[in-house]
Amino acid sequence: MHAPERVTLHAATARLSLTWHEGQTQWIDNATLRERCPCSTCRRMAQSGAAPRSGPHIAIVEIQPMGYGVRIVFSDGHAQGIYPWEYLAGIAHTPVGP
Ligand SMILES: [Zn+2]
Repeated sequence: MHAPERVTLHAATARLSLTWHEGQTQWIDNATLRERCPCSTCRRMAQSGAAPRSGPHIAIVEIQPMGYGVRIVFSDGHAQGIYPWEYLAGIAHTPVGP
C-alpha cells in the first residue's frame, strides 16, 4: 500500500487526516488512534480486556514517517505504536468533511 499524499494533524479538532492519491481524505480521532495502538503492549492489554487508556483530551504531539507507516507520539507519552498505512486506512471512518 502506498503512503498517502498528505498526513495532517488537526490539533483544534483532535484528529488526523490522511489524503490518498485518489483524492479521498479520511479522518481519524486522536482517541481512536490511541485506543487502537498496534504496539505489542497495547495489543496485549486489548486482548486481556483492558483497552489502552485514552480520553477526549489525548493529543498527538508528533508524527514520524517510517516509510510503511507513521510512528505516533501521544501527549500521554506513549510513542511505541507504528501504524502501517493499511492499518490506518482500516481504522479510518468514511470520509467526513473538514
Ligand atoms: Zn501502544
